[in-house]
This record gives sequence, C-alpha cells and structure tokens, in this order.
Amino acid sequence: MPGDPIYLDHNATTPLLPEVAAAMAECAAAGYGNPASQHAAGRRARQVLEDARETIGRILGADVDTHRGDRILFTSGATEANNLALRGVNASAAGPLYVSAIEHPSVAGVAADLSRRGETVVTLPVTREGVLDLAAAEDLIQPGGRLVAVMFGNNDTGILQPIAQLAALCRARHVPLFTDAVQAVGKIDVDFRALGVSALSASAHKFHGPTGIGTLVIRPEVSLEPLLFGGFQQGGLRPGTESVALAVGMSRALKCWHREREARRQNLTELRDRLEAGLRRIWPDLVIHGEHVARLPHTTCASFVGLERQALMLALDLAGVACATGSACASGSSEPSPALVAAGCTEPLLESAVRFSLGGTTTAAKIDLALAKIGPVCGQLQRANRPRNSAFAARRTTRNSL
Ligand code: PMP
Repeated sequence: MPGDPIYLDHNATTPLLPEVAAAMAECAAAGYGNPASQHAAGRRARQVLEDARETIGRILGADVDTHRGDRILFTSGATEANNLALRGVNASAAGPLYVSAIEHPSVAGVAADLSRRGETVVTLPVTREGVLDLAAAEDLIQPGGRLVAVMFGNNDTGILQPIAQLAALCRARHVPLFTDAVQAVGKIDVDFRALGVSALSASAHKFHGPTGIGTLVIRPEVSLEPLLFGGFQQGGLRPGTESVALAVGMSRALKCWHREREARRQNLTELRDRLEAGLRRIWPDLVIHGEHVARLPHTTCASFVGLERQALMLALDLAGVACATGSACASGSSEPSPALVAAGCTEPLLESAVRFSLGGTTTAAKIDLALAKIGPVCGQLQRANRPRNSAFAARRTTRNSL
C-alpha cells in the first residue's frame, strides 16, 4: 500500500507467509487433541506433530531415518533453544564453555550468567574482518572443554562463520560444538550432519513462519540436561504440551523456503547489491561491513561515517523506512553492535552503523523507494550536523593555532 513503511528489518522478524497462515488456520480448525493423549484425537495430533518434526529435521539435514537418530526438539523460540544448549549440553563436564565474541544476546547473556555462577567461560575472538579467528580457537579450545558455541551467520552483519572447520577442530578435541543458525536457516542451505556440529538452533519467525516456536537439533550421543521439569513430552528434555499449529507453521515455512531456495537466495543477493550500490551513491564514505568475506544474502550492515546511527535510524523510521541499529533484542538501548565491537571497529564506524535486512516480501521497487527516502534523510542529518561540526572545527583550529 502507498504510504506503508518499507520494511528492511527482516533479521528482527519476518512477515508470516499467507500459505503458512493458511496451513496453521487449517490445523487450528481441525481441532486436534493433545498430542500426548492416547485417544484417536490425540493420536491424530501426534501424527501431524511428528510429520512436522520430520520435515524440519529432513530439510535441516538431520538424521530422521534411523532409530536413534537426531533429536529435533521444539522450543518457544531460539532464545529458549540457545539457553537449553548452553546450560544443558554436556552439563556434567567440568571444563570451560567457549563462546565467540559475536554471539547474539540469547547466547552471550547465558554465558555471562554462567560465568557469574562460577563456570569458566572463554571468549573466542574474531578477526578484523568479523570472522572467527580459527588459529586462536585452535590455541584456546582444550580437550575436556564442556561446549563451544559459535553462531552460523551474524545477525548484525550477516558474516558467515567457518562452522565446518571449527566442527572438525572440536571433534579432534572431543568438545561438542553448538551453532546458533537462526539467521541462516531458511536463507541458505544448512546441513546439520554435513556440518558435523553437535547441536544447532533455529527460529521460525526468521523465515516467514510463526513467532513462538524454534528448535534445538541435537545429536543422539550428546548429553542434554533439561531446563524445565514436570512432563514427559519430547523425551523429558523439553516437557510441556507442544503446539501442533505452530509446528505445522514452522514446517510449512521451511518447506516453502526449500521449494524456492535457489530463486530466493539469488533474488535476495540481487536486491542487497542494488541497495548497497544505491547507498554508496548517497553516501560515498559508506563502509559495508563484511563486504569482502562470505555473508548471508539478505543483510547489509553499513556505517554512514559522519552520521549518528540512532538519529539516522529514527529519521528513517519517520520517513517510512524500517531498519535497525543493534539487534531488536537490544532495542531501546544505544549499545553498538557487539559484532562490530569484537571486530575492533573504530568509534566513527561503530557510531554510524545501521543494519538493513531483506526478506521474501522485498522487491526492487521497494529498494528504489527506500533509497529515494534514505538520500534526503542523510542530506538533512548532514546539514543539521554541519554547524556543530564546523563550530567544532573552528574551535580546534583556534586551539591549534594558539
Ligand atoms: N539468535 C539470533 C542470531 C537471532 O538473530 C535471534 C533473534 N533476534 C535469536 C537468536 C533469538 O530468537 P527468538 O526471537 O526466536 O528468541
């Protein structure tokens, strides 16, 4: 609709696909029983639930065919899946927890809490390019470690991490590896078994599925302590009545992506490149983070050096363009992106960084319209800055000439 904001914040959440909403409505209307009940209504619910679980597992490359295959646990979202992984995987081991410096707050926050409670937490650094420093990881990760947690693709920058290489290292050291694949699942191929990780998390609302459901995929030989107690659902590892409609929504959204994955990836890449070329025309000093390394196809994190990120984000919002600065979970705060801080970005880069993230409803026309709005907003902010900057420059000149 004309006048609607142009939504370029798909890393925060994505709109539900009509096909997914229809599948969920149909499921709700079917009036299934509790999937744990033994009567026919319950058995029907269980069948639908298990079909959804199998579809999700299959698309994610998990082993769903053998008797003791991978466990695909439904959770309330990735925050819960990440908490479950960090607290529950290999919980009886005494060794350290290794966590990368660029994790989402739903991992970094748990690590901080575990550290406060006395667990040894070791930070794995990233290079100046924002990619995990594998040489440092090789020095730091020791046999006997409890768990390594490194995300698949960063939510702020889209930078992809060398998970398969890290998994080989972790296997050699006998330390399980968990990857938060929230921003990668439903965007690029993620193959759980081929990667060689021990556990992986994903969240449906990041790929045009419903909010309120995620998954933790975990290999059968990896031990897991539950966070919740009181029921026997999901092998007691995540008790509580599962939502059949949410599971159906997640499975349908992933199926839709899988069906169109190559076209979607190509489309997102072209749109992102179009956006970045346009932003460069608007702001010649633009710095695109991760431009020279492997990135997710839908994320642009760019510093408009000379502007202030919060002011820019708010002014764009008023002009009808929704973007982000920092993760949605940190909104309201003015903390710069942890991924950029960890990569050693300078203050002018940190303080002018804004994230645009694209999704299935983004079109070339919307990108062009967004660019037509971003240009004047940048111009206005620059002009508003100028008196202050020139007064500052004048003061500096005076001081230097004393
Ligand atoms: N991990 C990453 C990388 C994310 O981007 C997010 C969502 N911002 C989460 C975890 C948390 O996911 P959820 O909203 O499903 O709790």
